This record gives sequence, C-alpha cells and structure tokens, in this order.
Amino acid sequence: MLTTHPFDDDKLREECGVFAIYGTPDAAAHTALGLHALQHRGQEAAGIVAFDGTQFNAHRALGHVGETFAQPDVIGRLNGHAAIGHTRYATTGDTLLRNVQPLFADLAIGGFAIAHNGNLTNNQALRRRLVERGSLFQSTTDTEVVVHLIATALATAVVDRLIDALRQINGAYSFVGLMDDGIVGVRDPNGVRPLVLGRLGDAYVMASETCALDILGADFIRDVEPGEMVIVTRDGLTSRHPFPKASRRFCIFEHIYFARPDSIVEGTSVYDARKRIGAELAREAGVDADVIIPVPDSGVPAALGYANEAGIPFELGIIRNHYVGRTFIEPTDQIRHLGVKLKHNANRAHIEGKRVVLVDDSIVRGTTSTKIVEMVRAAGATEVHMRIASPPTTHSCFYGVDTPRREKLLASQMDIEAMTKFIGADSLAFVTIDGMYRAMGKPEGRNSRDPGFCDACFTGDYPIPLIDFTDGTSDDRVSVLAE
Ligand code: SF4
Repeated sequence: MLTTHPFDDDKLREECGVFAIYGTPDAAAHTALGLHALQHRGQEAAGIVAFDGTQFNAHRALGHVGETFAQPDVIGRLNGHAAIGHTRYATTGDTLLRNVQPLFADLAIGGFAIAHNGNLTNNQALRRRLVERGSLFQSTTDTEVVVHLIATALATAVVDRLIDALRQINGAYSFVGLMDDGIVGVRDPNGVRPLVLGRLGDAYVMASETCALDILGADFIRDVEPGEMVIVTRDGLTSRHPFPKASRRFCIFEHIYFARPDSIVEGTSVYDARKRIGAELAREAGVDADVIIPVPDSGVPAALGYANEAGIPFELGIIRNHYVGRTFIEPTDQIRHLGVKLKHNANRAHIEGKRVVLVDDSIVRGTTSTKIVEMVRAAGATEVHMRIASPPTTHSCFYGVDTPRREKLLASQMDIEAMTKFIGADSLAFVTIDGMYRAMGKPEGRNSRDPGFCDACFTGDYPIPLIDFTDGTSDDRVSVLAE
C-alpha cells in the first residue's frame, strides 16, 4: 500500500520548526521562507497565521512548505505585518489537518495563535482535568491543552494568561504566539528545545534555528534564554523570566543529528560540533583502514572529523538519491529493505578492495546500518568497520523527538558484540558519553559541574518529570507507556 511517508524509517525523526516575525508588510512571505529553511524539522504539514491589524488570516495544510506556500494566491490571502508559522512532524496527535499548527483561538480578550516545538509530559493529566471542567478539544495535539489553559485563565492580558498556562505544564517546549498587538516566543525553563532571536531591518524574527534567519538575510541577535519569554510589540522588545530558574539541559541530539549543519545552536556551530565528535571517535576507536566513508547526509561532518584526525582519505563512497520524494511504501520489514536501496547506492570505485570505515550519526533500530554494511560489502570492501558519532541510543525521548519504543532500540536490547553481529560489520564502536561532551567543549566530560545538556536517550537521565508516562521511578513503565 502506498502512503506518503518522507522519512528514512531508521532515523530519529525531527520534532517541529517554529518561526515568528513582527514589523514587516509581507510577514507571511517571510514566514514561508523561514519555514522552508526549517523543513528538515518536520515534513508532514505546515501552517502560517498572519495578523493585518484587523483580522487573523490563516492557512494550514498537509505536505511540504513549498507545496503549500509557493502558490501566490495562498500567500496573497495571508496579509499582515506580523505572522507565525510551524512545520510539523507529529510527535503527539495524528497527522490530521485539525492537528496542523499554528492553532488559533478567538478568546474573549482577542485572538491568539500558537505554534509549538516540543512535547508536554503532563498533557494527558491536564487534558483530563480540562475535559472534566467542560473544555471541548478540537484536536489531539498537546498544544491545544495550552490554548484551553489560556482560555480559562483569569488574567486580562494574553501574555499573562500564557504565563499562567505555562506554569501548569511540564515538558520541553519552544512556543511562538501571535496576538493582535505583537508576537511572543518562550522556551521551557530547562531550554531543551531551541529558539533564536534575530533582526531584519526594523522587524524582529524568532525561529527554531539560525538557518531560518540566514535565508532571509536577517541578523542573529542571540538565543532566547531557557525560561525566557520575549515579547515584541510596536513599542519594541521586552524580555520576561516568569519561571523559577532551572538547570540548562539543551537537547544534545540537536547537535548530533536534528539541527541543520549550517545552524549555530546555543553558540556552537553544528557542523563544527559534528566534526569534533568525529575526531573524538577516531581517537577513541581508531582502526587501520584505507578509506573513511560517511553515511549521507548526516554522517558527513563526523566522517570528515574522523578522517582528518586519523589521517585516512575521506571519500563519498555512498551516494544518496535526493529525489526519492515523498512517496514511500508502508514500512513493513520487506519494504524498509527496499527503502534503503532506493535512497543509497555504493560508489564502487572507492570501495572495492578497501578496508572501509563507515561513519553514521546514530543507530536506532539497526535496519539501515545492516543494509548499508551489506551494500558496502557487496561493492567489494575487504573490511567494514562501523563508527557511530553518538553514544548508544538506549532510551526513548519524551521531549518532542519521535523515537521508537525502548525495546525497538537496538542498543537497549544488545551489547556491542551482539550489535556488531546484527549489522554484519567487522567492528562497531560508538563515541563515549565523555567523548561527546568533550566535543561540546566540556573537557571534564559529563561529570563537569554543569553538563548543560539533556542526554536522556543515551543515559535514561530524564531532566523533566514524565508525568503522563511514569510514576517517576520505573523506567520499564516508561517503555510500556511510550507505545
Ligand atoms: Fe534530545 Fe535525547 Fe533529550 Fe530527547 S532524550 S531531548 S532526543 S537528548
């Protein structure tokens, strides 16, 4: 059965991308461009809401940003000097049009649109309470819980109602909101998900990543701080810190895989961080070889770092077909196998008769690694050594990244020896947790006084309580309820 599924099924899937702009006459067109740069964060649906001084104008649709917003009549209807946008990968709620963001609510105190990157971990508990009190939900996305909390709050200003709502939620989030007098952006107190602030002429911009500023030629000002709320109105920008201070726990997987390599995330070049991880990997788990080959595209910077450190030639020994398109086939095991062959092909001239080191960013289920190793052997490699630029992914993410249930994660079920056999490699090694932290500029590794990152998918150390999923003590319960 054919369905539309754009992803390599063995990758962790990105969460969502958010964008907001205030102070330009064609805010929606700017937003469409920003979302286009954030397309890698979610490919299932996209939406924009703009405000023209009188009314809110919205368009939301399933599909890629380009498919939806390249149509001039669509952008032409989205008049306004302020807009917010969202590109979605569904981490909660189904892929239904009613779940596509931004969500809009006509509140007694004015209109409010909101878009969210992340996951609330007490969504179910709050939703039950709200339904008991009479709230009628239109969607199954956790973002709507925030809308209902805002609608039922007592404060008179939308921003104060938003603060009241956010004080009741747990989870990882970057929200952007659009009001009739401005835009607002806010990060959760731990700063798990990213949000940056930029300037384009007189306009202010907020976006998940700096690549969305670059596409507009906007200047990067700074990251929105963990727990900070930034409000932009005709009077300029104000900053509030409405939550108790918490330790910074930025998602380390943004550096490893999610963010675009040309983005600067939390002051660090994603590309450079990935190269440094590759260099750590070469120091920690070097092996005699003739060629270093990345698993494209996300393994490329780490493979470059590995090759430079090891002094071994780097070659594009696997070529990725970028035109596979969005038509994918129902991911049965048989079809997953076909999917990998559709996407990657061996560059035989640089493989045959060689001892190959393959570098990839992560192993999730292990299906892609298995097929890639098989493909490289079939192309004549004499040895195939797999090196992974992240520690073993042993735990599921509950903070806005779609990971499989824990028992589907290869590294939660097998030790290195068994995994090596499973993927069919001559050897397999992962960068260590400390090696990954050193690459992030923490010479003391994870045990430095302020690790600064969430690394729960490698350690099980969840920095935000998983209220919907667990009583906070049993990790087994987490894996059961994460289905
Ligand atoms: Fe990121 Fe992993 Fe933490 Fe999820 S669990 S927020 S993917 S580091």
